Amino acid sequence: MSVRKAAKNAAKKVFVASGVLRFAHKLAAPAAVILRYHSIQNRPEQYANTIGCDSIHATSIFERHMELIARRFSAVSMDDVALFLKGEKSLPQRAVAITFDDGYKDNFRFAAPILNRFGIPGTFYVLVDSVDRSKAPWYCLLRHAFWTSRRPNWKDPATGTIHDLTESQARDAAFLNAAEICAKLSAPAREELIQNAARALEPEPFPNESDLMMTWDDARTLVKSGHIVGSHTMTHPNVAQVSAADARSELTDSKLKLEKELEEPVKHFSYPHPALNPQWNESTLKITEELGYATAVTTTCGAVRADVHPLAIPRTYIPREESEFLWHIERTLVFRTGAAAENHPDV
Ligand SMILES: [Zn+2]
Repeated sequence: MSVRKAAKNAAKKVFVASGVLRFAHKLAAPAAVILRYHSIQNRPEQYANTIGCDSIHATSIFERHMELIARRFSAVSMDDVALFLKGEKSLPQRAVAITFDDGYKDNFRFAAPILNRFGIPGTFYVLVDSVDRSKAPWYCLLRHAFWTSRRPNWKDPATGTIHDLTESQARDAAFLNAAEICAKLSAPAREELIQNAARALEPEPFPNESDLMMTWDDARTLVKSGHIVGSHTMTHPNVAQVSAADARSELTDSKLKLEKELEEPVKHFSYPHPALNPQWNESTLKITEELGYATAVTTTCGAVRADVHPLAIPRTYIPREESEFLWHIERTLVFRTGAAAENHPDV
C-alpha cells in the first residue's frame, strides 16, 4: 500500500471512529443503505474463472461485515424498505438491508447461517432458469470459456474482430466484449453464441456445475427462515437492452415460476446488469409496475430516501476491508450518493 493510501485509510478510520458521521445521520433525512452481495465462498480463488473474484466475498469477511452491521447499524428487510417508500413505516436510524444477486448455492450454504446467527434478514434475488435447471449463469460459462482457453485468440462472430488472448488484460477485454454482445441477445441467441464460443475456445470442463446454484428446496428453506426470495429474471439479460417482448417474458415468467415454487407472492425484483448501460428504462418500469412488484433494485449507487422510486432503488457495492466498508456505509447514509462506482455491472 502506498504512503498516501495508508494516510487516507488512517484518516477514514479516525473519521468513522469520531462519530461525526453518526451525528450527521441524526440531522440527515431518513435513509437506508442496501448492500449488494453476490457470492460468499470459503475459497474465493477456486471460483475466479467462473463466478469471478469481483463478485465474491470470503466467508470470513462476510461474517465480519454482518457482525459490524449487527453492532453498529439497524438491519432492515426489503419489506421494511417497501413500506418506508409507501410512507407506511419509518426506518430506524442507520438502516441497512442485505441483498444477494444471482442465487448461488453458497448464499444458502455459507451466508444464510451467518445471517441467522446475527438475526439479520436477507433478500436473495435468484436467477430462475439457472436455479430450475441447476445450470451455471451464462456469464459464468463465458468467463470460464475465456479464462481456461489455451487458444491464442478469439474471433468475434458478429464483427469478425480478432481478440488477442495471450495476456490477461486482453483476455479480460475479450470476455467483456463477448459479455456485452450477450447482454442484449434473446436467451436462445445467447445460448448459441456461448456454445459457438466454447467450440472455438476449447475450455476445460466446467467444474461442479450442478452445485453452483441453490435449489428450490434451499429457496423454500430461506423463506421459512424469515428471509425474502425475489426475482433476478429468467436468464440474466440486460432487460433495458433486449426487445420489449423479451423483457416482458423475462420479468413475467420468472415471477410466475418463483411464485409456483415458493407458493407465495413474489414482491421484490433485482435488475440484472451483466453489461451495458442503462439497466432499466421507462418500459421496464412499466412492466414491473404492472406485475405488482413492491420494489425493484438496481446497481446504481446511493442511499434509499423517501423520494426514491420504489421500482428503481439504488444499492451499493461492498468494499471488503473493514474501515472502507464502514466509511462507505456511513457516507452513503449521510450524502445523496456515497460511492464513486456508479452503475457498476454485476458480471
Ligand atoms: Zn446478477
